[in-house]
Amino acid sequence: MRTLLHNAILNDKAVDITLCDGLIDSVSTASCSPQSAALTEECASIDCSGLSVFPGLMNMHSHAPMTLFRGLGDDQPLDRWLNEYIWPAEQKLTDETVYQGTLQACREMLASGTTAFNDMYFHLPAMAQAVRDSGIRAQLGLNVFGDGNELDRLNTIMRECEGVRLSIAPHSVYTVSAKGLRRCADACVDLHLPMHIHMSETQKEVDDCLREHGCRPWEYLDRLGILDKLGPNIIAAHCLHLSGNEIRLIGDRRITCVHCPNSNLKLGSGYRFPMLELLDAGANVMLGTDGSASSNNLDMIEVMKTAALLQKGWRGDPTVVPAQQILTLATGGHTVAPGQPACLFLAPVRSVSDLVYATHGESVAMTLVDGKIVYRK
Ligand SMILES: [Zn+2]
Repeated sequence: MRTLLHNAILNDKAVDITLCDGLIDSVSTASCSPQSAALTEECASIDCSGLSVFPGLMNMHSHAPMTLFRGLGDDQPLDRWLNEYIWPAEQKLTDETVYQGTLQACREMLASGTTAFNDMYFHLPAMAQAVRDSGIRAQLGLNVFGDGNELDRLNTIMRECEGVRLSIAPHSVYTVSAKGLRRCADACVDLHLPMHIHMSETQKEVDDCLREHGCRPWEYLDRLGILDKLGPNIIAAHCLHLSGNEIRLIGDRRITCVHCPNSNLKLGSGYRFPMLELLDAGANVMLGTDGSASSNNLDMIEVMKTAALLQKGWRGDPTVVPAQQILTLATGGHTVAPGQPACLFLAPVRSVSDLVYATHGESVAMTLVDGKIVYRK
């Protein structure tokens, strides 16, 4: 079945967009009425007058079930927040609560224009069920700690998550041993899965790594052979505290760094994310919310605004990271054009500038994933 998005605004022009088999089929100047644009075969026509159309947002770092922990341990330092609040609470999770928490997260993301997310957590089969039930796209990371014993169950988990993309997610260099990190990297190579990891989130992480291993976190991964092994198949959240040498290591491998400004600000982890330096070095920069326990919402429109304003603020330069550039980072470079996935959202704004600076996720009017309407206000 075809879908016609009639009279939507795209780059200041009124357009008709046809969707077919999960892809954008055509984008043309809007016809006077949906009838004259009607196609001979069965076609659902949706009046999009007054709405701008944008490519779906990609939330590249989240812990979806943490919607359950929203507001828990607010205003605490990262180590106390993890040790005294979050990790004890996570001990009590079950498949059922993880399913409910993930479903809530998926609904919030779809309702705020996010069509895909890249996650890291436990109870993956329960999460996969929520992903399937919500209609969102996802890549779920199996969280690994210590020596990586979680990997023993990987084959079973992969079977139980059929149809949903997976990654292997060692939590960080300070919670996973060298043995565990190497096991993760080998499993990624064997099974053609990406690695998703927290990196260089706090100055303390860097200082501890220097004391324990005599080098900075990215130099440590390099020394373990992981950067050579996985290259661009590494997705690293945060990357706030980087040396020039680390930026070179990341850029040379075309690694993806995910900036989560709201989480970093709330946890007091830092705000000078080296976005321009990473892009210049060749890294792929994307955006994320982090879990709802540290960002409190999953609103990628809010993340775009914070990310852009922070760059302008700490560099003292209002011309850096304009609205269109931050939207490109938030959508992974997807565009509204024929042949692109029909993962889109519509909002009652006039321009990209309005979207980034003047609105928020609750304004989103409609979201489509692979051509299907998965949210409508
Ligand atoms: Zn995280």
